Amino acid sequence: MANFTETQLLQLKAALQKRYLELQEEIRNELGHANDPRNADLTEYLNTIPDDIDTALVDRQINEMRELEMSMKYLRELEFGDCIDCENEIGFDRLLAYPSAQRCIHCQSEYERSFPQDSGSSL
Ligand SMILES: [Zn+2]
Repeated sequence: MANFTETQLLQLKAALQKRYLELQEEIRNELGHANDPRNADLTEYLNTIPDDIDTALVDRQINEMRELEMSMKYLRELEFGDCIDCENEIGFDRLLAYPSAQRCIHCQSEYERSFPQDSGSSL
């Protein structure tokens, strides 16, 4: 795991959780489920989305939430902050700005070149 101070870890954890809640909120707004049970966890929540709703609307948010879940798992397992491709440090500033980042800037641009459909700008 990258070398973070305890303060940095707390900041990153807060950024992850904040982003996660924001996405949850975006999904709810997008799908018009404003008065959903507050404590339902997301997996359950997603299962309640009717099939006839176009989930493409929220695909980006759902993907990012999955990445955030992965990051939170890494954080618990103390494997957080390393690029999944080259294993170098992703960097504190980048993680704070993009808490769901799984790759360093270099590998991310390589990845987006190889898989342009995953970069989220197809609309
Ligand atoms: Zn990398």
